[in-house]
Order: sequence, then structure tokens, then C-alpha cells
Amino acid sequence: MTDLLRLSRLAFVDSYDEDGTLIVQAKSIRHHEPYGCCPLFSFSKMGTKTVRYRDHAIQGQPTWLEIKRQRFRCNACGKVGYEVLPDIDTERRITKRFREHLQREAIKYPFTMAAEINGVHETLIRRIFDEHAKRVMRKYNVVLPRVLGMDEIYIMKRPRFVIGDVENSLMLDMQESRKQTNLNDYFEFIGGGDKVEVVCQDMWSTYRSVTRKQFPNAVTVIDKYHVQRTANAAVELVRKAHFIRISNQDRIRLKRKKGLLLARWDKASDKLKDDLEKLFVEFPNLRAVYEWKERFYDIYECETRAAAEKAMTEWMLNLPPEFERPFKQSRDAVKNWRPHILRYFEHRYTSAYIERLNGLIRKMNVQGAGYDFSTLRAKALLKHGRVDREVEGQKLTNRLARTLPAGPRLV
Ligand SMILES: [Zn+2]
Repeated sequence: MTDLLRLSRLAFVDSYDEDGTLIVQAKSIRHHEPYGCCPLFSFSKMGTKTVRYRDHAIQGQPTWLEIKRQRFRCNACGKVGYEVLPDIDTERRITKRFREHLQREAIKYPFTMAAEINGVHETLIRRIFDEHAKRVMRKYNVVLPRVLGMDEIYIMKRPRFVIGDVENSLMLDMQESRKQTNLNDYFEFIGGGDKVEVVCQDMWSTYRSVTRKQFPNAVTVIDKYHVQRTANAAVELVRKAHFIRISNQDRIRLKRKKGLLLARWDKASDKLKDDLEKLFVEFPNLRAVYEWKERFYDIYECETRAAAEKAMTEWMLNLPPEFERPFKQSRDAVKNWRPHILRYFEHRYTSAYIERLNGLIRKMNVQGAGYDFSTLRAKALLKHGRVDREVEGQKLTNRLARTLPAGPRLV
């Protein structure tokens, strides 16, 4: 039955069921006397007190350890204290392994869900998370990667700044503001900007300015998907322009075709191509704008920078005048960002990971309604970054270095 406990410093005594809860009675294999008051370190036993500590579920059953905790009296100063229980968090009245489990659950799930799954109060989950986050985040240093992705995410109605390691799909940090002065201060504080070789970003000019100042060895690559997406806006504009000219019935029909027009021709199924063809017969103008959209996307199919440059120039020159307005976003992108868009053909990186990460953070924020910014940042970094992994390694070495927790245990 000792296996049931699987704790090296506590011995199994007995167990019984109490209204569906498993109570495991246990005792210390060796008493660790309290310490910290007198150098003499001489104690007398002074009775015991039975205390229950919540443990993780054993075989699916909620479990409490019941320990007769030895009381000691210091022979020098007379202070009374309890034996030290290295496996127990005596303040929270839970086993340390259960605390560590809850800590992981608090990172993995929304706090309310972690509380529900483990049958504990949400306050406990929050406290354990806060303590853990405070401890590890203090030591967290952002190490800038070779390929840095930067993007913004709207949280609490404001754009927040998110950075990640694009090559290794790792979140690096999230900051409250994406203002230029804040970003310059931030990267100056972090240091190591000379390590960055590629920066992936959308078409927010501040990021480019910050890159020029902070990363002397880096080139900027404008994210492929942000560029391509501009062409969708043109299709949308032309589709909506048809609205005012057609009957109500056609309008409803056309409204349903939105997704259809955004599909890529090469990836479309035969059924989809068929639907598009039918639509184009009815609305020839949609065919034209659709084709120019496709041609714009196809610039990215080029294998070399030179070929892409040529395709881009041709697209710009040959675009029919009536489409200049609908494709304003695409044309502006090319006009303002051409060299950085073309960098993609030399460094084929995108912000896809950062975008996916933003989606995950957004979801985390929605599910955890009421997280403040620093909680959300810590939780996102613990889940999607490398914060915890490093610290857990350190913790393990610490644990090997000493068997007893530090600090006085006298009451
Ligand atoms: Zn003493």
C-alpha cells in the first residue's frame, strides 16, 4: 500500500473512504525538527496535531493526506514549532506535488476551468499561478532570435506589441504599447539587437523605424499574407459596388458569394470553380477583378527575386484604370514597401507563427475574462514561450542541492 503515497519522506499508515473522499493517513519517516531560532538546535517533543492536506486525486478519487504533525519545543528559548514537512505546502495546506500540478493546470486552462477540473476554488488556482508567475517572470530575459517576428494584437481595446522567434515558433514577449518610443526603450533594455538578421512585420512603419535603429544587421521582410490580403479588399469593393445596381434577390445571392470570391483558383474544387464560372457569366466585372486578385497573389509563386520584381512591375503597369481604386491597398503596399516585400524572395519567412500566436492569446484573453495585462502576458509566455522550461531546469538543480526548504518554521 506504500505505493499509493509515492512520497519518499512520508510513510503510509492507513486509508479510508469518507463520503467519496480518500483519506490517506501518513507519518514522517524521519522528523525534521523546526529550525531557525537557536544555534543549539536541541528540541523536545510536545505532542502532535492532526492536519489534513489536499493531494492530487489518487485513482480518480479526491484525496487528502492526514498527518499527525509532531510539535517540538526548543530547549534553549522555549519556542514551540511543528516538524518541517518537505513534501507539503503547509501554508496552502496542499502537497507540493498537487501545487505543481495545479500550477501546470493554471497555465494550460482558463483559471475557472482548472479549478473545476481539479475540484478546488478558483482563488487557489489564481494564487498559485500568481506566485509562480511572479517568481519566474522576474528572472525572464528575452533573448532576441535570428529571425524576429513582430506584430500587434488588440487586447482591452488597445494595440499590444507581440514578438516571437519565427524559426523556432516561440513566443518571446508581449508589451502594452507599440509606440515608437516605448519600442526603442524596450529593445535598448533587452540588448542583443545585433543578433537579429531578419525581421518579419506587417506594413506598420514604426516597426521598420525601430528595426533600422535597433537591429543594425537586420533586413525587413513584409509578411506575405498581409500583402496578399490587400487584394481581397479589391474583390470585396467590386462585389459591394454591384449591390446598388441589382435586384434584392440578386443582392442576397451575391452576399452569399463572398467566401467564394476569396478562394484561390488553383486550390478550388471543381464544384467551386463551377460556381465561380456561373457567377462570372452573370457578373463579368467580378471575373476581371477576381483574375487581377489571383494575379496579385501569384506574384508570390515566383521562384526568384528577379522574377517577382518583374511580375510585380507588370501587375502595376497593366492593371486596368477602373481597378486602380479598388486595388488601392495593394498598389500602396507595392509603392511604399516594394524592397521589403521583395526581400521575401531572399529570406522566405512570414509572420504566420506570430499571427497564429495572436489568435491563441486572443482566445486566452476571451476565456479568461478579467485577466489583467500582466497576468495575460505571463500566462501566454508560460504557455507559448520558453520561460517555464528554463526555470524548471533550475528548480531541479536547486532541489538536488538541498533537501530542506529554507526559512524558519517556528510558530
Ligand atoms: Zn530556540
